[in-house]
Amino acid sequence: MSELLERDRKYVWHPFTQMKTAGDALPIVRAEGSYLYDENGKSYIDCNSSWWVNVHGHGHPHIQQALAEQFKTLDHTLLAGVTHPKAVELAERIVGILPEKFTKVFFSDNGSTAIEVALKMVFQFWYNKGVDKKRILALDGAYHGDTFGAMSVGQRSYFNAPFEHFFFDVDYLDFPFKNKEEEVLQQAEAFLKTGEFAGIIVEPLVQGSGGMRMYSPEFLNKLTLLAQEHDALVIFDEVMTGWGRTGKMFSMDHIDAKPDIVCLSKGLTAGALAMGLTVATERLYEGFLDDDKVKALLHGHSYTGNPVTCAVACANLDLFEKPELKENLARITASHEAFKAANDKHDKVNEIRITGTIMALEIETGEGNTYFSNIRDEAYNFFLENGMLLRPLGNIMFLNPPYCTTNEELQYCYDKIMEFVEKV
Ligand SMILES: *Cc1c(COP(=O)(O)O)cnc(C)c1O
Repeated sequence: MSELLERDRKYVWHPFTQMKTAGDALPIVRAEGSYLYDENGKSYIDCNSSWWVNVHGHGHPHIQQALAEQFKTLDHTLLAGVTHPKAVELAERIVGILPEKFTKVFFSDNGSTAIEVALKMVFQFWYNKGVDKKRILALDGAYHGDTFGAMSVGQRSYFNAPFEHFFFDVDYLDFPFKNKEEEVLQQAEAFLKTGEFAGIIVEPLVQGSGGMRMYSPEFLNKLTLLAQEHDALVIFDEVMTGWGRTGKMFSMDHIDAKPDIVCLSKGLTAGALAMGLTVATERLYEGFLDDDKVKALLHGHSYTGNPVTCAVACANLDLFEKPELKENLARITASHEAFKAANDKHDKVNEIRITGTIMALEIETGEGNTYFSNIRDEAYNFFLENGMLLRPLGNIMFLNPPYCTTNEELQYCYDKIMEFVEKV
């Protein structure tokens, strides 16, 4: 074992990891573009953009420069009673790229906190008005993060079983598989027409951690309108689907209806620093304006609106304005589509699903999809040996690569995925 791994064993408690049985961590010392490099110099294609974060790959010079310059000018200040140019610029630009109804940006630290803030906004909006709406709807299979509010609205499972008795009550809709859309809309209507629902939260178009499950824009559009008809506030958790992942900047850009709140993180800072944003409409914001101080949104974190992080997010927005970006999204989607066309009928492939730059291949196992299925570990190790960092979700092999990933690199990944499928 290398010295780094020995020290890791001694001191580091890894996320989502059974430390007793886990093998050695992968000792990554450097990264560039779509590659990570270990301490022996071996390279790995970053197939899932380091947890869906590094949308432009690693070490982009424009991001590096923004980070360094801002750190020299203004490293940090609190945001309560204080403002600074980069927070203002970022908020202004985020509002600028979102549909017109979004007007106010609330800063926090990651995807989970963006969700916590959204939930607090929804519950307090009705509380401030003295309206008795306390229930919330979510989708079966949802993942919204690992803090308590976010866990509460997520799928109840062995991941959060020890805490379940602390969660607030949530009503779940079945997952809107193509042949179940009408039925799920009827379920939604039955809930919503009670008038008791404060809001509804969904991962729009694609459930990430729940297994890259995809549903139609038509359903999303109808559900959003239905909720709003019954005056339930709609939260889109675009933490994973945002930043070009679905082929457009945001999932909501695929539909006409728009949510009342959107949560952003992950690709927001392109892998340089952590930040979450909760963006609200003017109507929502106005629900907190009052002469009474306790009607304010009394929430904040030490690093709220950190200037360096804001500068990085602004630099990320610059990169999204470049024409190459759109070209890359279209190129990766087309590449996934060609792979699907060639392999969809394979007898060991249950399904290949694509939404924009996300490709998910479900291996036929005959035993359903479980995170702990043995295939997962076998696949993970097979890909590592072959120079790919790809974390399958159970029997689901998926790619959501950095947008700089070349066609040759994608082809290599497809070939290795099919080589593994053949072995099963
Ligand atoms: C990752 C993720 C979160 C949580 O974000 P963290 O930054 O990990 O706290 C929330 N929602 C979705 C859809 C995610 O993919």
